[in-house]
Parts: sequence; structure tokens; C-alpha cells
Amino acid sequence: MENVTMEKIVNLCKQYGFVYPGSEIYDGFANTWDFGPLGVELKNNIKKAWWQRFVQEDINTYGIDAAILMNPKVWEASGHIESFGDPKMDCKKCKQRFRADSLIEEFSKGTVAAEGMSDEELEKYISDNHIVCPNCKGFDWTKIRKFNPMFKTSRGTLENDADTVYLRPETCQGEYVNFLNVQRSLRAKLPFAIAQIGKSFRNEITPGNFLFRTIEFEQMELQKFCHEKDSMNFYEDYKKRALEFVKDLGLASDKLRYHDHDKLAHYAKAACDIQYKFPIGWEELNGIHHRGTWDLSRHSEYSGKKMEYQDPETNEKFIPNVIEYSIGADRLALAILCQSYEEEALEDGTTREVMHFHPYIAPYKAAILPLVKKFHSEKAKEVCLELAKIFMVTYDETGSIGKRYRRQDVAGTPYCITIDDETINNGTVTVRDRDTMKQVTLKIEEVPSYIKDKMKI
Ligand code: ATP
Repeated sequence: MENVTMEKIVNLCKQYGFVYPGSEIYDGFANTWDFGPLGVELKNNIKKAWWQRFVQEDINTYGIDAAILMNPKVWEASGHIESFGDPKMDCKKCKQRFRADSLIEEFSKGTVAAEGMSDEELEKYISDNHIVCPNCKGFDWTKIRKFNPMFKTSRGTLENDADTVYLRPETCQGEYVNFLNVQRSLRAKLPFAIAQIGKSFRNEITPGNFLFRTIEFEQMELQKFCHEKDSMNFYEDYKKRALEFVKDLGLASDKLRYHDHDKLAHYAKAACDIQYKFPIGWEELNGIHHRGTWDLSRHSEYSGKKMEYQDPETNEKFIPNVIEYSIGADRLALAILCQSYEEEALEDGTTREVMHFHPYIAPYKAAILPLVKKFHSEKAKEVCLELAKIFMVTYDETGSIGKRYRRQDVAGTPYCITIDDETINNGTVTVRDRDTMKQVTLKIEEVPSYIKDKMKI
């Protein structure tokens, strides 16, 4: 809905059981959030939709679930460990992170040797010379931090450097290190992709904005391994498919746009984000990156294993190119919550709050409501138990039927099924549509297929 504020969404999420502040009874724990009964259903459905679209419906994609804790050498190969000591600053406006010494070197066109400067000297130079953010031209820097983006923990009983392990800051490394395993065990032929959904952890300097940037989040992502000659086609293909996917889940076209990167990592051949117009403005929803042979080459170098593929027809041996498509499940859930919310003015002068979730991702597909508790609750519970074997449903017998409809509207339940005398006498129910508020009469046995039909994406 237009003009919905983040504050409104945060409050509503707490009030109706979508998302609660993490560890709230201990005054919370900054930038952690707990998904409540409705939120966990919503997020699970989002993950299920992604898996269905990109794994189940694509026979050349193989799913995995790799360990969160990986051999620390993985993070040497990925470059995460080597950049620990760099003096990093974040632009508070656009949240991009830069090396302070590189900012000065670029600004001074190499005439100032910033590498030997202390943090205080770097900060002073940037401030005195009003060096702006290369991305958004803002001038609002955080202080310098020798930034470690990874959370450390230790294995074994003794805590020393040799036992240090890291919570993964990205899921993609699990796919790279399993390239050979998947290729051989499934006899997979290029081009193919490896996909997974899992938690990542980032010690973000500037987390915030509810679920948008947290220190612990879930990523849904895949790496397409292919020959260089096909790589740009796959890159374009995933750009298209990624956009279609979020539209199919209900995000509006006019709130979505591509954002091609001008500045690329040295190994990248192309990179693009899909941005969504959140209440905080246009921000990245997902990324599609053409990573060349960088990741597999690095893992070849650090592991000593040849991360190569031999074409069975031409016998050509080569390191595959990688196209990465990655989207945050929590960030997408936030976009969907913002998009779906409406404060609708009704003809009778009242308003109602509605979450217009697509039925596929709605937490509950239907609510079973006995018209009069005393007479209809037994039958309603029976219907509820039958439908619960097919999809998530809820049951509500408290308050007037009007109030119960309103509660389901804001939970985003697409159908309310009322059980009344007709149900007991003729086996029919009335099914109310959340969005149109219109009702149809169906036989009980017709309800599952009626709802399942609407759930297709
Ligand atoms: P950003 O620029 O927003 O920090 P990024 O470019 O670092 O994101 P990637 O590393 O490409 O992001 O991660 C892929 C996706 O994972 C992002 O598009 C986003 O949807 C999600 N994501 C990344 N960091 C976070 C975070 N801290 N909290 C929630 N989701 C995140």
C-alpha cells in the first residue's frame, strides 16, 4: 500500500503475531527478530515457493543443505579473512562500505599515500577534504572500523586462534565447495545449478530497518555453473526469472526495478540488483552476479583440488563460469508485508486492515468459523481437522462473525469458511473471499480443490 510506514509494519507484525523483537523480555537484542506463528508460515511459504520455482521446476538445479560452520580455509579462499584488517567506513545514507585509504587515494588521484596513515589521520583527511560517498555523493560517514564481517566462535574446549571458526556470512560457499560432489554423484552435465536455502550471519556495521538488514538472516540462492560462451545468456535469464518470481508473489511492477552496477568487482563480468520501493526508499531486494571463474579458481588454488569440468562431447577441460542469484528470505518477507498491507475504506464509512497475501504464501489458507458457537462448533472442528490435513487452517469461535472476519483480514487469510445450519443439514459451507468480501456456497468436499486452485503461482 502507498505511504505505509516501517513503524506501522513493525507494530502490526508484533500485534498480530508475525514478527516480535528478539529476546524482548530482556529489553531485546538489537537487530534480531523472532518470527511468530503467522510470520513463520509466511516465511516458510516464501521459501517453499522459491524452491518450487527454482529447484523443483528446473531439472538442471540440484538442492543442497551445507553446514553453517565450514573449514576456515574456505574464508581465506573467499577473501573474507584477508580483508579483516582493512580500515572500512560505511556511508550512513546508502549503506555502502568503502576502504578509507582507497577513498583518499582515489580522491587525491594517487598523490597521497594513505596506506600508512593511522585511522585518526584517515578520518581527518576525509573530513577536511569533504570526500563524499562515490555511490550516493552523501557526506555522512561512520567511524573507521577494522571490520570483521564474520561472527567468530571456537570449536573444541580450548579457545585459541587455531580453534577459531566462523558463522558463514553467505551461503554460496557451500555450493562452490560441493561443485565436484554434486557434479559427480548426480552425473550432472553443464550447465547446471546448485541451490540452497539457509542462514547467514553478518556482523553488519549499520544494521536496521526491521527485517531489511539484520545480523542473522536466511538466503535463498543458487549458483549456475556454465561454459563461458553461455554465461551472459544465463545471467540475462536469471535477471528475468528473478523479477517474474517476485511479481508472481505479489510485488507490484511499479515498485520493482533493475539496478545494474557500474562498478564491478575485479573478477565480475556483470552485476545487477532488483530493487524494491520499501517504505525507506528504493533498496536492493536481490542480486544477480556474473562471477566469472573467480570462486572455483580460488577454491582450486586454496584446496589443491581441480575444480574443473570436462565436456563429455568435446573433451574440453575448463573451470566453469558462475552466475549467482541470491535473495534474502527475510527481506522478501518484509517487501511482501509492506506490499500487502492495506487500510481499506469501506462503503459503510468504516475501515478495515487487510493483508492481501497471495494465497500460496498466506500463513493460513482458510479460517473455520462456527456461526453460533453453541450449535456449530462441533461440526466446525470436524471440518477444521479434515482441512488441516491438506493445508494450514485456523479455527476461531470467539466474538461476532464480523469481528472474526476482520481478524482474518489482517492475518491475510484468503478464505473464511462459515459453518452453520446448512452445513449440518445439507453439507454446504459459505466461503468468504478476503479481498472481494463476496461469499459463495460450496459443498464441503469441494473446498480443498477450490482453495488449491487459487494457490497456484
Ligand atoms: P546489501 O548491499 O543490502 O548489504 P549485499 O549486496 O551485501 O546486500 P548479498 O551479499 O548479495 O547482499 O546477499 C544477497 C541477498 O541477501 C541480498 O540481496 C539481500 O536480500 C540479502 N541480505 C544480505 N544482507 C542481509 C542482511 N544483513 N539482512 C537481511 N538480508 C540480507
